[in-house]
Amino acid sequence: MTTHTTRMLIIGSGPAGLTAAIYGARAGLNPIVVQGLQPGGQLTITTDVENYPGFREAVQGPWLVQEMQAQAEHVGTRMMWDTITSVDLSGPPFRAYGDSGDVYEGDTLVICTGAQAKWLGVEGELQFSGKGVSACATCDGFFYRGKKVVVIGGGNTAVEEALYLTNHSDDVTLIHRRDSLRAERILQERLFAHPKIKVLWNKAVDRFVGAEGGALTGVELTDTVTGEKSVEPAQGAFVAIGHAPATELFKDKLAVDDGGYLIVEPGTPKTAIPGVFAAGDVMDHTYRQAVTAAGTGCMAALDAERFVAALDFASREKVAG
Ligand code: FAD
Ligand code: NAP
Repeated sequence: MTTHTTRMLIIGSGPAGLTAAIYGARAGLNPIVVQGLQPGGQLTITTDVENYPGFREAVQGPWLVQEMQAQAEHVGTRMMWDTITSVDLSGPPFRAYGDSGDVYEGDTLVICTGAQAKWLGVEGELQFSGKGVSACATCDGFFYRGKKVVVIGGGNTAVEEALYLTNHSDDVTLIHRRDSLRAERILQERLFAHPKIKVLWNKAVDRFVGAEGGALTGVELTDTVTGEKSVEPAQGAFVAIGHAPATELFKDKLAVDDGGYLIVEPGTPKTAIPGVFAAGDVMDHTYRQAVTAAGTGCMAALDAERFVAALDFASREKVAG
């Protein structure tokens, strides 16, 4: 077991954590980033990113976040391959305990644990997981080359997944529980214009079906308006109904809202514990974009720097007094 100490401990290596690291390193806080199970965060499971400023043409999500990491390391960030399993917020110093057995100690803590894909929780979802059911088209779409696939959801992710899947399949169906999408307009236009995609409106998934021990063959649906039952044949089903914030670690330690997002002082990344900050999707139920995650990561680092300066001032005063 090793104890790693830093002036700024960051949990999470998506755009929020890496931006906090870039600012923290340049401020001399010698940050440590604990990467977790998804190094690079959610951008690693997407393809084209067209709305991150600075790039005229679309860039690839994994590439973008790799560049962020390279920049963070270049200015002095230490990246750790570990996942935090518990935290002690009674500091400073704040402690985070890694799955590896290592302990991470920071004078400040920046929580950037982001969000994870949500599941429908219906029958067959677990049974056919990896045998037809997936939550990541960019990861698994390739396996459904030439097959019939469905995507469940009506947000940006669902529409992007459907569009992406047309690279592999000529028969893509988007299934949505309402009669309008929540995805942004430009994506909706591309979806509706695409010859390989059809949309099933007002349909809720009851269960995933297939052979016992075998692969998925279809999705049982109920019409949310008429109550009519139907089966949509599919060899691949991509659940794209959003993401839940990764806040389990902070249960009973930090306040969360109804959706499970960490509560911060409005307009700041400050949690109720001085020196503990939250940035990115873990505290943002509204915007949830790479650029907003990066923005709040920057804010957290600037506030962390001020907190450390105040700590140092207080300890100098104590020594002098
Ligand atoms: P995340 O990217 O979710 O990163 C969270 C990090 O925390 C991960 O590294 C994870 O390993 C780590 N972590 C979690 N728990 C622990 C733990 N216990 N210990 C250690 N580490 C932990 N946004 C855009 O702006 N443009 C787009 O085109 C776009 N496309 C998207 C496509 C898809 C398919 C998805 C899912 C999202 C997309 N987004 C897009 C949204 C964007 O990816 C997120 O807003 C952004 O990644 C959030 O960054 P984050 O740093 O807050 O968290
Ligand atoms: P989202 O915007 O929360 O959309 C989730 C969709 O899933 C909604 O249409 C919702 O239906 C549906 N849904 C939720 N629970 C369901 C259930 N139990 N059964 C059936 N359908 C269900 O999530 P998201 O699409 O993952 O996007 C998350 C954030 O990331 C957003 O802020 C988004 O802008 C961002 N993002 C951005 C991009 C981009 O900029 N290109 C790409 C991907 C994601 P209702 O509409 O009926 O609620």
